[in-house]
Amino acid sequence: MKQRDAHKAQGRAGQGRAGMGSVRTLVVLIAMEAEAAPLLEDLKLVEGQETPWPAALPFKHYAGSVQGADVHVVVLGKDPTFGVDCVGTQAAAMATMAAITAFKPDLVLNAGTAGGFKGGGCAVGEVFVGSSTAFHDRRIALPGFDVYGQCLLPCHPSDALADHVKAKRGIISTGNSLDCPGGDVKTIVEDNGACIKEMEAASIAWTCSLFKVPFVAIKSITDIVDGDKPTHEEFMANLFAASKAIQVTTAKAIKFLVNRNVSEL
Ligand code: SAH
Repeated sequence: MKQRDAHKAQGRAGQGRAGMGSVRTLVVLIAMEAEAAPLLEDLKLVEGQETPWPAALPFKHYAGSVQGADVHVVVLGKDPTFGVDCVGTQAAAMATMAAITAFKPDLVLNAGTAGGFKGGGCAVGEVFVGSSTAFHDRRIALPGFDVYGQCLLPCHPSDALADHVKAKRGIISTGNSLDCPGGDVKTIVEDNGACIKEMEAASIAWTCSLFKVPFVAIKSITDIVDGDKPTHEEFMANLFAASKAIQVTTAKAIKFLVNRNVSEL
């Protein structure tokens, strides 16, 4: 689907409950433990004693009060069979549902690392606030299913947040692979109009849209997708620095978001 068609579809599925009050309960979803660690320490959030979802789910829960509001950080946790962080869309959708059901948040924020396209103006270390999310690996060439597969959803309006944390705006494209074969590049850049590539945001956005919970995303660029370095090497080299950038920006974002009316983000 061409980008202009995608943007038409964008208006069809709105997000959130703008104007329905202030952010008293905030859920922050973070995929990897390494990405979350500096933020948890900074905000002095402590791990919950009992997880409010079935014990079989590996998701971790940290909570605390920030400026009097309840902040719940949910980390996807380690896969019990494979022993690594549960990155990707299934765990992200399940954790979002678990967190929305348990905490009834006024807003969900997804913070994490991402690949960026230098052709789209991204550089390593930069931070972006998502304007929309879409998938790039759900190609279903059937009438109606094509736009369902792409799933282009606007994030909750968040220009004030982006200004506050001095982040650029950009469309986030989500898929279940760290690599980026040529066909995906076309889908991400031309069809989705995105400059940011990662593995969870569109899935979290879709779950939030079902529950009508406003959704915003902050992504720190760890690697350049259209650059000359292998993604996995660049990702590992920059993960620590990007997690630090996520901590600084996300902590600032959380303090901006809590107690603010959702129509003023
Ligand atoms: N090799 C890593 C695994 C990282 S998976 C490890 O061993 O720890 C990638 C995670 O970072 C996902 O949560 C995804 O959202 C994000 N990410 C960062 N850069 C990405 C890119 N270029 N493409 C896809 N996801 C990326």
